[in-house]
Amino acid sequence: MLVLVVNAGSSSLKSQLIETDGKLTLMRCLAEKVGAPDASMKVSFAPDFDAVRCNVAGKSVAECLRRLLEVLADDPASPIDGLEGIGAIGNRIVAGGEFFSKSVIIDAEARENLQKCEELAPLHNPAADACIDMLHELLPNTPQVAVFDTAFHATMPPKAYLYPLPMRYYEQYRIRRYGAHGTSHRYAAQQAANLLGRPLRDLGLITCHLGNGGSITAVNHGKSIDTTMGFTPLEGLMMGTRSGSIDPAIITYIMRREGRTFDEMDAILNRESGILGVTGESADMRDVLALAADGDERAKLAIDMYVYRVQKAIGGFYAAMTRTDAVVMTAGIGENSAELRELIFAGLAHMGMILDKERNQVEGAIGMNRIISIDDSPIKICVVTADEEIRIARETANLVGAQ
Ligand code: AMP
Repeated sequence: MLVLVVNAGSSSLKSQLIETDGKLTLMRCLAEKVGAPDASMKVSFAPDFDAVRCNVAGKSVAECLRRLLEVLADDPASPIDGLEGIGAIGNRIVAGGEFFSKSVIIDAEARENLQKCEELAPLHNPAADACIDMLHELLPNTPQVAVFDTAFHATMPPKAYLYPLPMRYYEQYRIRRYGAHGTSHRYAAQQAANLLGRPLRDLGLITCHLGNGGSITAVNHGKSIDTTMGFTPLEGLMMGTRSGSIDPAIITYIMRREGRTFDEMDAILNRESGILGVTGESADMRDVLALAADGDERAKLAIDMYVYRVQKAIGGFYAAMTRTDAVVMTAGIGENSAELRELIFAGLAHMGMILDKERNQVEGAIGMNRIISIDDSPIKICVVTADEEIRIARETANLVGAQ
């Protein structure tokens, strides 16, 4: 089946057209810095994947997707004659709350429940919902599936997912930890098991999805038992523009001191904090590494803070697990930055996670799953290329095919 995968992020759009029978990727699209004046979108087609660049300055994620569909319908290099050839659309959804513990075909009821989940991931879900609506308008007869980032974490025990608040907030409003990046953590764990040559059910893994958003998960016997993201994707690690965990009293303090509204506070924590907040320059780790190399003190501080928080989260989950066989690094920073990996694991050797500096650095190794710890490291360190799109495509084809 030909599946269009739509992965709408907070400031990015990733999309692929995948032939699920042959597991072939026919089109890849990446839009970055969406919404910004210097936003860019690249679309490329099999077999050569020469990029077509599109001007998407100032456009929303759904508008970028509409532009992509125009290119897909009209470009001479496109592998399909018309959009009717697309058999199904697989949408990655960050938050499914307690409404969704597995992937679903999007019907009217699912659409209504998706809307109720928007406040759980205010940076992501509204962008994905806007894409679903636009696609429904344009291709009303093409089935759409929602694949949830939260579903993998449905196995967390109450001690991990409940907050020590009055229980009425869970009972009335379902305030609890849902986690996110589940598709990525599940995939990273399975790929690490393949690399280690052992069944996933026998392993204890700590999977680190370090991208623009970031989360770390304890995967015990193939199941998520705890994760750093919480009720929303704001909790946990320091991220590109999100604060991650801070003392909750800071929020009411700033609101009182500066007379801030709830919406303003949301924006400060979600869009103006994290790496961007500390550097005052950029949320993008590549920029920050370049600034630090030029001696920028704020950039160096942001990297120190980022690394320290990742180390503490890995250490915390090491304590939460009964055994740890490997730590798995994935997503933009985790996969690509040998420098960040070296800084992170420099502080974790005493726990038995010993990086092989040469394997970590191997040129041309980007995009290749591999083990980067020394041979007798008690806990292995793996790098896995995030391939969320393939997983979403397969899940979509399975659901639609079984209809
Ligand atoms: P993602 O959200 O997974 O696309 O990851 C985006 C983040 O990965 C951004 O902060 C990028 O700067 C970062 N990133 C991508 N490539 C590299 C690289 N080679 N070195 C450092 N950071 C990178």
